[in-house]
Amino acid sequence: MVTLKINNLHVSVEGEMIVKGVSLEVKEGEVAAIMGPNGSGKSTLVNTIMGHPSYVVEKGEILVDDVNIVELGTDERAKLGLFLSFQYPSAISGVTIPNFLRTALNSMKCMKIAVPEFMKLLKEKMALLGMDVNFAKRYLNEGFSGGEKKRNEILQLAVLEPKIALLDETDSGLDVDALRIVADGVNAVKKKTGMGVLLVTHYQRLLNYIKPDKVYIMVNGRIVKEGDALLALEVENKGYEWVKG
Ligand code: ADP
Ligand code: MG
Repeated sequence: MVTLKINNLHVSVEGEMIVKGVSLEVKEGEVAAIMGPNGSGKSTLVNTIMGHPSYVVEKGEILVDDVNIVELGTDERAKLGLFLSFQYPSAISGVTIPNFLRTALNSMKCMKIAVPEFMKLLKEKMALLGMDVNFAKRYLNEGFSGGEKKRNEILQLAVLEPKIALLDETDSGLDVDALRIVADGVNAVKKKTGMGVLLVTHYQRLLNYIKPDKVYIMVNGRIVKEGDALLALEVENKGYEWVKG
């Protein structure tokens, strides 16, 4: 069973310390949520876990099953079972969704799935997420609405079936129906594979659909409070001011 453990992590961006000593843990089968005001460093944290080159680890460890992965490239982290859905997914013109996803799957699993077999898999996953099959003809995220981009991120998750998924504000830009479909998609993958989820969200709403085992509140680069699902409700009612201490 895969465990992702963050120990006293400090991360700088362009010389400025943004993450200032974060420790947390998420195991396969678990859902951990990180909530916090804008600018508190949540995206910086998850991008760093995935190995984004703009973020510099100044101190601390990122452990997957007790092995420090700080020096590994993003592709190697993906092969260990980590996955990140972006807060702001990029568009790539000229690259279709099936091409992109088949290449990603082959690379991550060190396999060579044939096109017809892959298309069958993709159609299954698209149906799971209530996506129109015509979507598969389009270029990655090009001209997609905010909600379509988020749904496409979850399609990637469903195809790649990681051990631990990091979801960065997957709820933003979704209306209630789309939110439910996306959450159902995450829950379906979780049920099938037993993956762990580290969920970043600004609002409590998503946590009604994807139930967290643990909730961390992050303010100004630090985890200032830790609790269960009730903590998310408390923050929803009282705002973040009271936890800042
Ligand atoms: P959150 O996701 O909690 O809203 P972020 O991690 O996106 O917070 O940002 C935390 C702080 O780090 C912000 O002040 C932001 O401006 C800064 N920051 C994040 N990424 C970059 C970057 N690539 N270049 C410059 N500053 C950045
Ligand atoms: Mg963010």
